Formats: sequence, C-alpha cells, structure tokens
Amino acid sequence: MNLRAVAAFDDNYIWWWQEGSDVVVVDPGEATPVLDLLHATQTHLRAILVTHHHPDHVGGVAILRERFGCPVWGPARETIPEPFEPVFAGVSFSLLGQTVEVMDVPGHTAGHVAYFLPHATPHPLLFCGDTLFSGGCGRLFEGTPAQMLASLSQLCALPDDTQICCAHEYTLSNLKFALAVEPENAALQTYQAQCQQRRAEQLPTLPALLALEREINPFLRIQHESVRQAVQRHAGLSPASDDARLFGALRQWKNEFK
Ligand code: ZN
Ligand code: FE
Repeated sequence: MNLRAVAAFDDNYIWWWQEGSDVVVVDPGEATPVLDLLHATQTHLRAILVTHHHPDHVGGVAILRERFGCPVWGPARETIPEPFEPVFAGVSFSLLGQTVEVMDVPGHTAGHVAYFLPHATPHPLLFCGDTLFSGGCGRLFEGTPAQMLASLSQLCALPDDTQICCAHEYTLSNLKFALAVEPENAALQTYQAQCQQRRAEQLPTLPALLALEREINPFLRIQHESVRQAVQRHAGLSPASDDARLFGALRQWKNEFK
C-alpha cells in the first residue's frame, strides 16, 4: 500500500491510499490536487471516503464522482453530497483488497465517522478526519465534551502501531499547547523537535503513531495526574471533577490559547 498526504487549502490533508494503479481518497475538500496527482501518477480513482460534512472535507466530492463515477462512503447521520453509501459504527466493507471498519466518533460533528484498516501493511491505518490530531483534537462544534472524550477513548484503544491519518497539519500549534499543559513531558519535548525539523523540510508530521500520541497528546491523557492537575489549576476546578468536566476545561483552554 502506498499512502500519501495530499496537501489542500492552507493546512488540510486529503489522504491518498493506492494499491497498484487504484486509488482511494479520504475527505477530498477540493478536487484539483487529487486530479493533478491522478494525472501525474497515471492512476485511477476507485472510491471516496468521507468522515464528516464540513466543506473542507467534501468540497471536491461532486467533481471527482462525476469525473470517475466512483462510489462514495460517508456518515449516515450527516448531510454530504448525494448519492453516497451511508455508514455507521459496526459496518465494514472491502476496498482495494483491504477491510475497512467504520467507527462512530461524534464530538467535532454529531455524526462524524472514522475508518480503520486493521490489516493494512506495514501498520494498521486510521482515517479520523477532524476527531484526533497529532497532539490535539478537533473543536467541539456539534458535540459535548463527554461525547468527544468517549470517541477519543475508542480511538486510543486501537493497536499501538496504528498510523493516524489526521485531516489537518495542526501538529506544531497543538504541541505548543501540549507543552503549556505538560512542560515536563520529555517525550513531548523530543517529539516537538522532530516535528519542527519535518516542517522546516516542508514534510508532513503525519501520519502520527498511536503509541506516541498516548504519551504526548493531552486530550488522550486526561487520566494522567500531570494533565489533571494542570487543568484543575488553570480552570480553578476541584480535584473531584469528573473526566468529562476536565476534558471540557482542557478543550476550552486550548480554544483560548495563543
Ligand atoms: Zn471539520
Ligand atoms: Fe477540517
């Protein structure tokens, strides 16, 4: 399998997954970068996967479908360009010889889904749209902190070596915030230096490795004392606050962080 992060707009990635001359793209917010790469690589678009309804994820769907007549899979509970094959948690299907498992991950939007490829080689792959980012998570536009926390917990339970294909290059700004939460986290400091190097070379910081995200992403670490204490201090919450309350305060802190 050949995996690529195709840059779109300012900081979106359209994930491109290729087997031989067949290609699947995830969240094509615009058609042009996909059309250009299909042309350059002499490949064929076979399917489109959509994680949620935002324009920067679906803007290119209609053009690509019209051009290639390929099927589109998308979240059953959201409005995306018709026609599409509606999917939800528990559905699995086969694409380019891979099993694709659908997960419901509400929080950023109400019907957001993620696509997990458990047998991808060399590592399992997750296409998670705007739910999980490296070092961060999506904003809560349509969901509650409790929903997003439950969604991230599901993703966090995937295999250690899962490669996380996030839909935006937000890593460096996320890590700046993560270090404000956990200034002493050595793994976070090391990772920030690596990511700065990659961005200096104009390379994507993604996909991210799940095992590392568990060590550095504060939104996956609400159970850790260092994160709990930092949030309690910042938001003036009592140590008895439950996880969802702390998670909501952490997300709010990030929203206001400069
Ligand atoms: Zn979005
Ligand atoms: Fe987005």
